[in-house]
Amino acid sequence: MKILLAKDAGYCFGVRDAVDLAYETAEKHGDVYMLGHIVHNENVVNALDTAGAKVVDTLDEVPDGKPILFRAHGTAVDTWGDAQSKEMNIVDATCPLVWEIHEEVKKLESEGRKIIIVGDHGHDEVVGIASQVKDPIIVATPEEAQALRKTKRAGVVSQSTQTIENVQEIINIIMTKVFDLRFVNTICFPTKRNQTQIKELAKQCDVMIVIGSFTSANSKRLTALAKERNKNSFQVTCADDIKDNWLKGAEVVGVSAGASTPDNIIDEVLTKIKEIGNVPEEIVYG
Ligand code: SF4
Repeated sequence: MKILLAKDAGYCFGVRDAVDLAYETAEKHGDVYMLGHIVHNENVVNALDTAGAKVVDTLDEVPDGKPILFRAHGTAVDTWGDAQSKEMNIVDATCPLVWEIHEEVKKLESEGRKIIIVGDHGHDEVVGIASQVKDPIIVATPEEAQALRKTKRAGVVSQSTQTIENVQEIINIIMTKVFDLRFVNTICFPTKRNQTQIKELAKQCDVMIVIGSFTSANSKRLTALAKERNKNSFQVTCADDIKDNWLKGAEVVGVSAGASTPDNIIDEVLTKIKEIGNVPEEIVYG
């Protein structure tokens, strides 16, 4: 058996920096608070909680003087304003590529365009992008795009972790409804790289394993991309989820992971596959 590990499997730099910053801040201040999970991965959240990085629902729950960490995928304008007016100790872990989306969407609005955001309803990153402009429309699926009314001028951006396929399909529909359309492709480059590697690997491998939490929309999207190309594709959250019979007779096994999957879980999964296949080392692909 040969194991091909996608080069860019796992944490993107935005998530890696945010997690590191959460650990550093907790160490420095004893604890740090976050409005929701820093990544959609239970193992990371639990490990951070032990280290002193706590999840709260509102700013009011943050004890006086303690730092509040704003996560990689951005924070709504109102929440920033509230934290600033309370003179809270803000630690900003917003990914620079998310800041870029905020800038782009504001530019499109300043051109007098109706804003359309291609992204998941209720996702924190989408909520943050939407808060930058007035009354944007969120479109998650081609069906929702079909239901849009005709508009003279519109500008479109996308959530950073969307698949190119979903965005393309939605843009094709929007093109039939908007006379003057500007689309800024804000899918981030780590996402594009990860998606490309998974699509290529899934075609070359007998079995494709995608590691990621089922609470992560990004990981589920990656698994769907793999499944479209290889029906022997499976999403696992950890090594224990792997079934020996999936790998029976497989000559090439591909492995990748969502942007919220930590290195130690990828290592555990690789170790298990190596044991099953009696393989000493994986080969890095990409
Ligand atoms: S997925 Fe992209 S935009 Fe989001 S945190 Fe990672 S690098 Fe930044």
